[in-house]
Amino acid sequence: MATIDITKLRKEYGDENEQIVAVEDLDLTIEDGEFLVFVGPSGCGKTTTLRCIAGLEDATDGSIEFNGTDVTERRARERNVAMVFQNYALYPHMSVRGNLGFPLRLSTKQSSDEIDEKVDSVARLLGIEDLLADKPKELSGGQQQRVALGRAIIRDPEVFLMDEPLSNLDAKLRSKMRTELQELQQELDVTTAYVTHDQVEAMAMGDRIAILDKGRLQQVGTANEVYRSPANEFVAGFIGSPSINLFTAEVDGDTLLGPGEFVYTLSDRSPVEDTNTVRVGVRPEDMQLASNGSMPSVVTVVEHMGNENFLYAQIGDIDLTARVESEVQPSEGTEVDFDFEEADLYLFDVETGKSIK
Ligand code: ATP
Repeated sequence: MATIDITKLRKEYGDENEQIVAVEDLDLTIEDGEFLVFVGPSGCGKTTTLRCIAGLEDATDGSIEFNGTDVTERRARERNVAMVFQNYALYPHMSVRGNLGFPLRLSTKQSSDEIDEKVDSVARLLGIEDLLADKPKELSGGQQQRVALGRAIIRDPEVFLMDEPLSNLDAKLRSKMRTELQELQQELDVTTAYVTHDQVEAMAMGDRIAILDKGRLQQVGTANEVYRSPANEFVAGFIGSPSINLFTAEVDGDTLLGPGEFVYTLSDRSPVEDTNTVRVGVRPEDMQLASNGSMPSVVTVVEHMGNENFLYAQIGDIDLTARVESEVQPSEGTEVDFDFEEADLYLFDVETGKSIK
């Protein structure tokens, strides 16, 4: 069990000719037993952060502590962490039993009976008892992933670090394994840092989610917090599927104007008091079809999802998305109007992107 304190972490790659700052000024505490998910677009520094926690990369600056002990200078094998990767990294010539027992044979003085017993109990936990004699190539992707997890669990590490462990699985299996992995993590109660580029996976799995962009932490919070109270426009745009509608509006007293014929009167104008222009965000599910609404738009596409429809529409030169009931299916080119509650409106500073409401 471990609390992980990351302070002012910085990681640079390259030399004086070309320097890449992969992680910058990262302050974050991962609580004991917590499942924390790092999420962000490609190249935002997720894997680098995880590898610094693991001890597979040296931090350029800053520190990492496990339970108050500084481990920044410790190598990976001195940190008692277990890593699970996207490509499983199983030994092809070894059976499942051999793969599972390998970390114990390598690092402990346990007898082969003791190791066999531990392998059996981990295999039972993961439901792979019947596969112990098989070689990795005889297994499905999901089974291979279970073996890779088993190999991580077997050493009773203080910390699990997982880098996109489910991304090689098909959508259905991935969603099943998500649940299994969460249940397993809760059962074992081991502090876990998990990397994914998939915000849906992050929202579904994390006790908290740390959103990174360009090497910098943008926000950390529960799924509900980052969804309903995004710290800035980047977080609002990254979290949520389909994505939030975002556009620029002019401020005229208590009224927001444009694009197209967009007009919205605020009952509380305090967030926009000091500005002439503002970035506006409305989530697709908060857009309601209305007569005499604030967003007269033209339907471009209707996507049928079964239990609901996604309406794509245009207002001025901005594309909008609305989630509507499946009975609502206007044809392309139809004029529609949308409205939304003021409580569902997001406002961001034009310059900094920071939330102002
Ligand atoms: P992805 O989802 O694509 O794996 P990521 O968020 O995990 O991306 P990182 O792999 O941490 O991002 O990379 C962050 C930045 O650091 C990128 O610009 C990447 O090109 C750079 N980088 C990562 N590893 C190295 C390395 N060994 N040498 C040089 N640059 C690197």
